[in-house]
Amino acid sequence: PPEEPQLSSFIRTIPDFPVPGIQFRDVTTLFQDARAFRRAVDGLSAPFADRGLEVIAAMDARGFILGGAMAYALGLPFVPIRKKGKLPGTTLMESYTLEYGEASVEIHEDAFAAGARVLLIDDLIATGGTAIAGVRLIERLGGELVAAGFVVDLPDLGGRRKLEAMGVETHVLMA
Ligand code: 5GP
Repeated sequence: PPEEPQLSSFIRTIPDFPVPGIQFRDVTTLFQDARAFRRAVDGLSAPFADRGLEVIAAMDARGFILGGAMAYALGLPFVPIRKKGKLPGTTLMESYTLEYGEASVEIHEDAFAAGARVLLIDDLIATGGTAIAGVRLIERLGGELVAAGFVVDLPDLGGRRKLEAMGVETHVLMA
């Protein structure tokens, strides 16, 4: 069979979005291609075949697309970590600084049982602020964070290094 194109070829860069100076990596073009989307979901899942995962947690909003598909494929529960004000139940909150602005994310306090083995998923890691807020929420709930997984790493922004310095095993499909 003909070789599949590199997964990175499905991601386009949009200049000056959402603010001037940001080169935004658009993953919707990867999601639009069924085979590329499946390869991304399978690639993020592959390292965890025998790791005793119990929960997939993912970041609002593109993380949900990947994490939801992974949870379905792996037969695991899915836990959304949402932007502030969206979850209806009692939540824990973490605030952090973004590449462009400030944000807060929340998790339901009863999202999983203490000790659960959790994988954290998002589409992209840049400065790491978002992922670190997710890690903190999982740890505050008593979760055992197995690893974090991303389709794209922007290594110049240092987020992956920060996560690994915190002792978080980190997997990316492309840098
Ligand atoms: P960080 O908190 O690591 O600086 O930024 C990562 C978070 O912001 C992720 O939730 C990610 O979805 C979003 N993000 C930041 N920059 C980009 C980008 O260039 N492309 C995409 N798709 N998401 C981004």
